[in-house]
Amino acid sequence: MDTFFSVAEMSRFSSRSRKEGKSISFVPTMGFLHEGHVSLIREARRRGDVCVVSIFVNPTQFGVGEDFQSYPRDLERDTEIALKNGVDVLFVPGAAEMYPKGYQTYVNVEEITLPLCGASRPGHFRGVATVVAKLFNIVKPDSAIFGEKDYQQLAVIRRMVGDLNMGVEIVGMPIVREPDGLAMSSRNAYLSPAERKSALCLSRAIAAAIELYRSGNRSVPALRNEALRIIGEEPAARVDYVELRDGESLAEVDTADDGTVLALAVRIGATRLIDNRMLGRGVVCRETC
Ligand code: AMP
Repeated sequence: MDTFFSVAEMSRFSSRSRKEGKSISFVPTMGFLHEGHVSLIREARRRGDVCVVSIFVNPTQFGVGEDFQSYPRDLERDTEIALKNGVDVLFVPGAAEMYPKGYQTYVNVEEITLPLCGASRPGHFRGVATVVAKLFNIVKPDSAIFGEKDYQQLAVIRRMVGDLNMGVEIVGMPIVREPDGLAMSSRNAYLSPAERKSALCLSRAIAAAIELYRSGNRSVPALRNEALRIIGEEPAARVDYVELRDGESLAEVDTADDGTVLALAVRIGATRLIDNRMLGRGVVCRETC
């Protein structure tokens, strides 16, 4: 496995691979890798001749007062995980490499970035779209693999790639969960043991709303209230948003159907966690369903 720290090295490698007729599949991450990331790496290996994983904690997608400084980082551990899982190239650019002095170009995706995480984290998706566009130009992938865990991010990237004719195939992969239902996330490392228990209210809220949906209830307020009721039972939890939206456009819906996504963001203490589920999809986890 090669590890490249500079844009020039990465770009040269990709140009050479493409000239040799090899397809490149790409997994962009912020590191502190877990099984969720590994599921994307497996899919990338299945799809391409060369598997590239980037690790970059992107400063432009963090707002003032957010956790950019404290975001967990462990390159040694990430390198081991990448090696063990057959990654060909780890791309680890520094912030000055990605945003050198004088940098002033940003990608703005419009409507689809306004609700949900876009509303509570202004500027977040501008940072995400910009860094992903830059990474695509550097890595030159044929396909890129993203997790449905960050549901809105995936929708924003699909929109950007379509709108700007980027010619990269975008692949979405299901959320990987802990055995008790908590969606895996690098940010779970922030949780104290008590908070870790409280954090189960996210997947429980989704499971409860799904159960109500399966019983035939199609009312958006009723499904939303069911999720809110479960989260409300958890004193450590503060709701950022709980919403039902069209799974593709993320527009508001009048009634729920199989293509509706239930998306939520909840603070457990100081840690903001997100989770989601398409209503027409299978079980949340073995234990709650
Ligand atoms: P991050 O390092 O958190 O920016 O995530 C990098 C990629 O991994 C994104 O496409 C995420 O959606 C995906 N990802 C993160 N957590 C999970 C998970 N639990 N299951 C599946 N994909 C995930």
